[in-house]
Amino acid sequence: MEELKPLIRIQEIDLELKKIELKLKREIPERIREVREGREKAEVLLKQVEDKFQANLKRRMEIDLEIKSIEEKIKKHSQDLLKVDTNEAYRALQREIEEEKEKKSRLEDEVLELLIQEEELQKEKKKAEEEVERIKNEFAEKEKELLKEEESLKARMEDLRKEREKLASQAKPSLYKLYIQIASTHGGIALSPVHDGFCSVCQMKIRPQLMEELRKGEKIIRCENCSRILYIPEPKLPEN
Ligand SMILES: [Zn+2]
Repeated sequence: MEELKPLIRIQEIDLELKKIELKLKREIPERIREVREGREKAEVLLKQVEDKFQANLKRRMEIDLEIKSIEEKIKKHSQDLLKVDTNEAYRALQREIEEEKEKKSRLEDEVLELLIQEEELQKEKKKAEEEVERIKNEFAEKEKELLKEEESLKARMEDLRKEREKLASQAKPSLYKLYIQIASTHGGIALSPVHDGFCSVCQMKIRPQLMEELRKGEKIIRCENCSRILYIPEPKLPEN
């Protein structure tokens, strides 16, 4: 049916516009968010390693001070040793010196352990920094791609809208009104091609009598089940 032709193309355009809108509203922001989240995760990891490294360093500085004060004590006790006059006091001082020396040795062990950890943390930090850098570059690249895609989708939308406007002005007004009315209440789909005697939207078999009328193409036939305007698609030319 000739007068349906502009509407068939309008239907195609409307479906494509819907797809593009969905892409612009959901898919592209979603993809941007994903990369952004990846970058944030890498930054958090880097921050954790840096914090650990700083805490390690701080602890090591504290121990250095502790060791110095122990050394002072040992020095003082050693001088006191020369001044005491009882064996008991002498032994007590010696015991204290021994204890301080042990304490010092334990702290020195801890410093060594901290130094080893720091070396590991330095490596981890470098890796985390590289990861952040990599993701940042990846993000910049993806963002550029997505913005380009966004732009081309918007341009495509513009073209489709112009084409649609032209078609709408060519369509028979009462028919266009019917199209809008059905589309707005039936999920944006007003037209349904008939394939092998079935409505392709709701899969209902079309009654033979209705099929006959459809073939004649004298009036608008609507699916008795889903109310869409039915049409028989033109056979596609074989592609070479
Ligand atoms: Zn139907």
